[in-house]
Amino acid sequence: MTDVVCMDCASYETPALIEKLEAGMAFLGGWDSFAKPGMKVLLKVNLIGPKASQTAAVTHCEFVRAVVRILKGRGCEVWIGDSAGGAIAGIAPTERGFEVSGLARIAAEEGALLKNFEREGSVERRPADSGDRAYFLAKPLFDADLVINLPKLKTHSAATYTGAFKNLFGCVPGLKKAEYHRIAPNTHEFGRIIADINLCVRPGLHIMDGIVAMQGRGPTAGTPYPSGKILFSTDPLALDAVACAMLGVELAGLPIFDSARERDLGQWRLPAIHLVGDHATPPPLPGFEVPKAMKVGATGGRFFGVMINFMKRRPVVDLAACKDCGACVESCPVKAIDRPTKRIDYTACIECLCCHELCMHEAIAIKPTNRLMALLSRS
Ligand code: SF4
Ligand code: SF4
Repeated sequence: MTDVVCMDCASYETPALIEKLEAGMAFLGGWDSFAKPGMKVLLKVNLIGPKASQTAAVTHCEFVRAVVRILKGRGCEVWIGDSAGGAIAGIAPTERGFEVSGLARIAAEEGALLKNFEREGSVERRPADSGDRAYFLAKPLFDADLVINLPKLKTHSAATYTGAFKNLFGCVPGLKKAEYHRIAPNTHEFGRIIADINLCVRPGLHIMDGIVAMQGRGPTAGTPYPSGKILFSTDPLALDAVACAMLGVELAGLPIFDSARERDLGQWRLPAIHLVGDHATPPPLPGFEVPKAMKVGATGGRFFGVMINFMKRRPVVDLAACKDCGACVESCPVKAIDRPTKRIDYTACIECLCCHELCMHEAIAIKPTNRLMALLSRS
């Protein structure tokens, strides 16, 4: 049985958080089992872009503060690292993300070091079970003695859900991300790349900030939902399986996890997961809004194909909301967005939804291509 710990926690206040983090870790053998004095510990946060912690688009800075304080108290050197999505004039907005999210302030106040993955160099790694595929990943991930993944509980317009497993895509520095999106144009294929990265990095521990989750048009344009939970596990798939169940979604139905399931990279079957802490079964989140439709990568017969086309959605730029920042243009892996007009060339578009994900001004909606579907969903 794989252990996942689920603790109730309604507040980002440091004392309450530290108490819950200590109590949750006790179910996994305590911090002693993971962090020893003198160790360099890298906290891989979710810093998708320059978004404030209150938006629920990023791992909340106060959540990170509590983990830093615990680890510093145990004599560890603590690093906070990520590479934000997107690119503006060739520079991924990670540095601004550290400022806007509050992580830079937290790091200064708590004595942690920021590791901007764009500037720390990268190393080539190959997943153990597929030696022909190589990935360039941020060097601090391999300089640290322990990597702790601190994902955010969020929806995702393309993948339905994003949590512990997918958070490791941020281990890829800057514009390389767009290249990996280009070679893996659907969620099923993209899941293989995420599985490969998980195999290369192998964090020792995953602790999810599910205190305030993002619902709806995640991972950046959704709305906060007070879910009041912290999840802990050494197995990212098991943690995600529990989180998905909380949202009323089955992990096995999400193509982003296909490769991980097929390669047996963790436990995703709920009956084989031992849920401990404040809940013995995944606590439901009433009224939580999951994305309207997920993108389907596989095909399954003519009827299924017709249904997929009927439900198909694509990005549409709202020029009235657009701030002309250029992030979508420069982040599009196939250069399908015209810079002056923001018109999208749908014959080139691979529907990766990076533009929607990385527009920090909520100016790119996902709309049905079918008029009847648009009418029915009032999109
Ligand atoms: S649509 Fe969004 S990302 Fe693209 S230029 Fe406008 S504001 Fe920037
Ligand atoms: S236009 Fe948007 S969805 Fe289409 S390929 Fe470019 S980034 Fe991806």
